[in-house]
Amino acid sequence: MAQIFWIASLGHVVFAGILVAMQIPAMIVLSVVCILANLVALVLHRRLQLKQAMTVKMAVTLLMLSIGIWWVGPDAGFEYYFFLLLCEILISDLSVRYKVGMSVAIGSVALMAIMLPSYGIPWVTRDASVSRALQVINLMMVFLVLGGIMWRLHAITERCEHHFRRDATHDYLTKVPNRRAIFHEADMLWHQQRHFTLLLLDADHFKQVNDTYGHTVGDEVLRHLAYIVRGALREEDRLGRVGGEEFLIVFPDSTRDEALTVASRIRRCLEEQPCCLETLTLPVTFSMGLAASDEVASVQELIALADRRLYRAKSAGRDQLVMSDLEIVGPATL
Ligand code: GH3
Ligand code: MG
Ligand code: MG
Repeated sequence: MAQIFWIASLGHVVFAGILVAMQIPAMIVLSVVCILANLVALVLHRRLQLKQAMTVKMAVTLLMLSIGIWWVGPDAGFEYYFFLLLCEILISDLSVRYKVGMSVAIGSVALMAIMLPSYGIPWVTRDASVSRALQVINLMMVFLVLGGIMWRLHAITERCEHHFRRDATHDYLTKVPNRRAIFHEADMLWHQQRHFTLLLLDADHFKQVNDTYGHTVGDEVLRHLAYIVRGALREEDRLGRVGGEEFLIVFPDSTRDEALTVASRIRRCLEEQPCCLETLTLPVTFSMGLAASDEVASVQELIALADRRLYRAKSAGRDQLVMSDLEIVGPATL
């Protein structure tokens, strides 16, 4: 809304300049009053008095428009501004009640201003050509300002949509895709009947980190874990946070051996770069369960299989990777 008040002030400054060039001093007064009203609205808006700001702007602009139409007559294009005001009200950040009330006020003033007989004061406009010129200028001004507002609105909507989509699919803490997004990724691959592998990772004894150093340090370690895992992946691999200290990696079109290579890289990177916080160094290991899409009949079974294998890795002493019902890869070979 602050931008709208600025745009309106600027529009009135330009308009006042045009009126000076056309030598219509009475109309310049109206423009100056509108500029002042917009500046007052800006100050009120800064103080977060949003309703008051809008009311000042609308009341003064409606009054000035009515006087303008009364003086010059309804054929000078001042009535186009009513549409602009309506648009400003409807996109504003105010309550529905206020918007409906103000819209009715704008409509009523517009009807009254157009239906009342015009004064056609000679010292305001001298001939029909001036009215015509004013109509063209007003039309252009409304066109430009409305176009500018719509353009900005589009940009803001796009940005909000991008943020909402990102928030809905990404984990707030680690910034990697969330459970829903990574499961959706696996679902898509399954429905496309592509061969893929899952690797489920769970940080070992993570509760101890929280219990010993506090939740904030725990959060920092989780961020570090996500950073390390992401850095160890290939471009086509997908990572998601599926639980508190649990991550899932999807390897599209990849064999179990390829997944094993990435798992080894994750372990090596974690060993080489433990989480360092000021004076603290916190080495954390992962237990991992691996499952391939050709081992099961549904994507749910695939996730359950990776989960069972992760559980076995925990039972086998942690810091292990269970690749199949027979293969456990320990820290020495991982
Ligand atoms: P295990 O080796 O068996 O996996 O032991 P664990 O301690 O890692 O597992 P457990 O399930 O007992 O504890 C998981 C801990 O993760 C408990 C919970 O407080 C912590 N946790 C979950 N989400 C978050 C989070 O967002 N931030 C922090 N700091 N801790 C979290
Ligand atoms: Mg867990
Ligand atoms: Mg754990």
